[in-house]
Amino acid sequence: MTDSCVFCRIAQGDIPAVIIAENAGAIAFRDLGPQAPTHVLVVPRLHIESLNALNDAGLAGDLLELARRVAEVEGIARDGYRVVINTGTDGGQSVFHLHLHVLGGRRLAWPPG
Ligand code: AMP
Repeated sequence: MTDSCVFCRIAQGDIPAVIIAENAGAIAFRDLGPQAPTHVLVVPRLHIESLNALNDAGLAGDLLELARRVAEVEGIARDGYRVVINTGTDGGQSVFHLHLHVLGGRRLAWPPG
């Protein structure tokens, strides 16, 4: 837990968020600035700065399992969706607490940015 980290504070319940689903290692909540009809963030409960710092295979499984479950709960699993992990400055990461974007509900363009 880092006091200055917004996603740590959401995971602790100190900052409000619309929680979609949870498991042992991760929590999923709606993005404040949605880029698609469904835009949910999946974050580890523990503070991990980015994908570069993830070295726990069990936690990686929790994150992916929760992303897949979000797609089911949100009703986008059948038509398709995208899971994105922006990493570092060139990757477009702006919040330095690892998070998976789950995006769907419309046809997404490729390649990105
Ligand atoms: P990234 O640019 O990949 O680091 O993504 C950070 C995401 O966090 C952006 O899509 C923001 O809209 C989202 N975000 C920032 N603060 C909050 C918050 N308090 N609640 C929900 N989403 C947030």
